[in-house]
Order: sequence, then C-alpha cells, then structure tokens
Amino acid sequence: MSKVEDFLTKNEEQEIVNAIRTAEKNTSGEIRVHLEKETSLAPLDRAKEVFSILQMENTQNRNAVLVYVAVKSKQFAIYGDEGINNKVAHDFWDSTKDIMQVLFASKNQKEALVQGVLKIGEQLKQFFPYNKNDKDELPNEISKL
Ligand code: CA
Ligand code: CA
Repeated sequence: MSKVEDFLTKNEEQEIVNAIRTAEKNTSGEIRVHLEKETSLAPLDRAKEVFSILQMENTQNRNAVLVYVAVKSKQFAIYGDEGINNKVAHDFWDSTKDIMQVLFASKNQKEALVQGVLKIGEQLKQFFPYNKNDKDELPNEISKL
C-alpha cells in the first residue's frame, strides 16, 4: 500500500471531497488534501512547500489549510496560512492531529482524512465563520503528485 493510486478507493476519495464541502459550509476557510508517495523532508516542511506549489495563499483572508500525506510512511502534516497562524496558538491543530494519528495507525486512512477535515472545519469556524457570500476559493478535489 505504498502507491498514491492505491491509498484510497474512488469512493473513499469522494467521501473525503464531500467532507471538504461539508467542512467549508462551517467556515470561510479553504481546506485541501494532498497525497504523494514520499518525501525526504519533514512532513510540515514539505506541506509548506506544497501549499506554495498549489498557490493556496490565494485566498482573501489567507485562511487556507493543507492536509499533507506521504502515503508510503503515513506521515502527515496540517499546514495553515498566515491568516490562521496570526490568530491561533501553535498547538491549535494538535487535537486534530491526534485523531488522525489514531485512525492512520489503525489503517483507516479514509476515516483519518474525513475526520481530520471535518474537525479542521469546526476549528476554523471559531475564527473564520462561514458567511453567506462565501466563495469556494480553492478546488475541493484531492491533489496528488
Ligand atoms: Ca470558501
Ligand atoms: Ca474549497
């Protein structure tokens, strides 16, 4: 199970995209999931790079969040843009990471990503509530390299 294509079934991918849509109904923030086989960097450093590659800083409130996964080693990171980091403590994502870690460890990668995305939406809501004029600023599809 070390290939990106084998990490999730099509149905599981769709469930994650649906979770992103649901989460983004709670918040003006934008959430993306990125999968790649592996990285030689620390997951958070690679997440920061991918965030930039995907041009996720292109949101009005700088409030996008990337969930990055290196599928071979099941390492992951949650990286939020500066609009979020200016408002939250450095351990803001720890409880979400804990939930995801447990699910990844029990080999339920789909549920790890669904639960992680939904929790991120709830967390963002406190600082970036949804408003009725909200735009879907970044694609909800899973990004892969
Ligand atoms: Ca939005
Ligand atoms: Ca979106």
